[in-house]
Amino acid sequence: MISAAKKKGLSAIGSADALHPGWRRMWEDAVPIDTEDGVIVVPSAEVEDSNRVHHLILMEEFSSFSELHAILEPVPKDLSHTGRPRLRIGGEEIARRVHTLGGFIGPAHAFTPWTSLYARHNSVRECYGEEPIDFLELGLSADNSYGASIPDLQGIPFLSSSDAHGPDPGRLGREYTVLEVRELSPAGILESITGGHVIQNAGLFPEEGKYNRTACSRCYRQYTLEEAGGLGWKCPDDGGKIKKGVRDRARELSCGSPHPRPPYRHLIPLPEIIRHVLSRKSSDCRDVRTLYEQFLASFGDEIRVLTHVPVPDLSRVHEDTAMAIDSLRDGRVTLFPGGGGRYGTFSFE
Ligand SMILES: [Zn+2]
Repeated sequence: MISAAKKKGLSAIGSADALHPGWRRMWEDAVPIDTEDGVIVVPSAEVEDSNRVHHLILMEEFSSFSELHAILEPVPKDLSHTGRPRLRIGGEEIARRVHTLGGFIGPAHAFTPWTSLYARHNSVRECYGEEPIDFLELGLSADNSYGASIPDLQGIPFLSSSDAHGPDPGRLGREYTVLEVRELSPAGILESITGGHVIQNAGLFPEEGKYNRTACSRCYRQYTLEEAGGLGWKCPDDGGKIKKGVRDRARELSCGSPHPRPPYRHLIPLPEIIRHVLSRKSSDCRDVRTLYEQFLASFGDEIRVLTHVPVPDLSRVHEDTAMAIDSLRDGRVTLFPGGGGRYGTFSFE
């Protein structure tokens, strides 16, 4: 994971799944991770509450997750064999316990039509009661414009993170958050997030996400909110369930003018760009991987390739890919939005 993060150009990652004893021990044994490899690992976990809402938890120390594990009694059966345990308590109670241990919590992929804050509730308070949230994770189908006009979220930092749970370069770092950090440590990162020092969010175009538009979860046919309502949220073609898109859900919750948010840089993972340029079916193809490695060998890491390296320099490695990256930087991208569980697609103009 550490070497994959470095190739991507990330200075910090979440450990994910820190409530899993074996996974947690693996990271604890790998200390001092932060100084040795130059990539900071923030202890993190995702949990599902009794209303099936997912929460992201961040802590300064792995030992705090061990303490959290202890106070989640009775320990659910699945805690030792799943990364994302289902708890029998609600969001407010989970947040209270996390805060007692000095941890931070916020809704994960907040707008998705399954297992999210806004799939189940109409407000932060409805889920977390008296407990405050420390951040909100946007999820792949949203950018920060989606939450900017939701009165509930004023002053809450937005995180764009990849939800990768693995080192695949098409997933790890497909979204990331740029922070101004005082100290290079998990504590420094958490202080920066909660202190409002997010200076940029970055990630997929929301349309690339698999829940951007309202659509049938079986055949992916897309509907307007009115059509879906008129059909009783059941697809007339195949009886599949129609799932409300993140864009429509965010619009429902929005009112008034948007509050200022950090800029959002829209990106497409480099393996996906190369796959598109070479017209391959999968970014796992050998020639896609080879060209990807050539770009990294020439310029260091993927984020640098996507955002910083001048196009003429990129052209020396592969001209068509360089042209595609140039289009991406200028926003010359045509998007075919995803929905119902199918990712969106793109082409360059
Ligand atoms: Zn259908």
